[in-house]
Amino acid sequence: MSGLELRNIVKNFGAVEVIRDVSLHVNDGEFVAFVGPSGCGKSTLLRLIAGLDKPTGGSIAIDGKDVTAISAADRGLAMVFQSYALYPHMSVRENLAFGLENTKVAKAEIEARITDAARMLEIEPFLQRRPGQLSGGQRQRVAIGRAIVRRPDAFLLDEPLSNLDAELRVSMRAELAALHARLKATMIYVTHDQVEAMTLADRIVVLRSGRIEQVGTPLELYNKPANRFVAGFIGAPH
Ligand code: ADP
Ligand code: MG
Repeated sequence: MSGLELRNIVKNFGAVEVIRDVSLHVNDGEFVAFVGPSGCGKSTLLRLIAGLDKPTGGSIAIDGKDVTAISAADRGLAMVFQSYALYPHMSVRENLAFGLENTKVAKAEIEARITDAARMLEIEPFLQRRPGQLSGGQRQRVAIGRAIVRRPDAFLLDEPLSNLDAELRVSMRAELAALHARLKATMIYVTHDQVEAMTLADRIVVLRSGRIEQVGTPLELYNKPANRFVAGFIGAPH
């Protein structure tokens, strides 16, 4: 089976059950948003998918292959964080190339990918600058660029726009939509911003206390929320 399959995922931190029996299938190329209040487990679930953390129970498969025990680097996914996580002492170009340099990817191919991503994200003029010399929006573009140059099968984005001001957030939202249309890669997008989820996602996963409350298209959630919690969160008049 193609796509990403989560089966009965459980994650405990000590005695606390943070993810409780989450099962979900994400199709190839789909844009899925994880929404829910702060502390409901969105980041934890994304880190489990990324392989940055191991589930206490359940399994994760990518294209039918069980990857539960496979390291993050070998899953073919790329993560983009809210805090950019760029190396301050490196130029933008070096930040983009980092992690690709000692792989099978040839030098010329790395250069071509950097040029391509920089053009797509309109960060070409800044390639020689350090992250400290960039605005928040430019830094976030570099962080996204670093994911793009890896040519991942899926992008995992954890509140990538939440540090940006409102105006920039709206324009970056449009850029992300364009990027998804162009790359046709799977995107799993964590946000606590319902509007972002409603405008960007093919399907929305509503989480509450580590459980899935409802999964559906923005329209389904809006028209037929499963309960008051979903209705309240999505903002439908109920
Ligand atoms: P969200 O991203 O939805 O805000 P998180 O996934 O970050 O939520 O956190 C879910 C819950 O798990 C929270 O109660 C948080 O305190 C707890 N948690 C997250 N990471 C750890 C950790 N490394 N150790 C202990 N508890 C954690
Ligand atoms: Mg989080």
